[in-house]
Amino acid sequence: MKCRFGCGEYGRAGACPPQTPSVAECREFFHEFSQAVVLHFEGQMDKPEDRHAWSAKINAGLVKLERAVFVAGFEKAFLLFMDSCCFCKECSGNRETCQQPRMARPAPEAMAVDVYTTVRQAGFSVNVLLDYNQKMDRFAFLMVR
Ligand code: SF4
Repeated sequence: MKCRFGCGEYGRAGACPPQTPSVAECREFFHEFSQAVVLHFEGQMDKPEDRHAWSAKINAGLVKLERAVFVAGFEKAFLLFMDSCCFCKECSGNRETCQQPRMARPAPEAMAVDVYTTVRQAGFSVNVLLDYNQKMDRFAFLMVR
């Protein structure tokens, strides 16, 4: 509901709802895993538009991390990005026409995760921010079994 109502990317991003699995399918997906590594990123932007490049750079590194964990023997490793995909200036808006289908991953919130509650349970402090002058806290999850 948070994605469908209130997010400007709904229906316009290839790794966001409604391109992601249903809530029931997401629940089933998470039951496949016994552990999640929570990765915390802090960022403060001069301009809101800078967030895109910042997220794209970090998300590209996270794909490499997923690969390294996979080849280390954790074959179910699956990375959930710390922001929406952000690799392309203009997202194609769906999986079929995604310009980098091997790289794109959903964010945890796009997989129906309540990120605020989940990271607080993991010991992180996170609050709603009021403007871009404040430091952002972003979280990626690496699912492992
Ligand atoms: S790789 Fe590009 S086209 Fe695919 S979901 Fe990400 S931003 Fe959209």
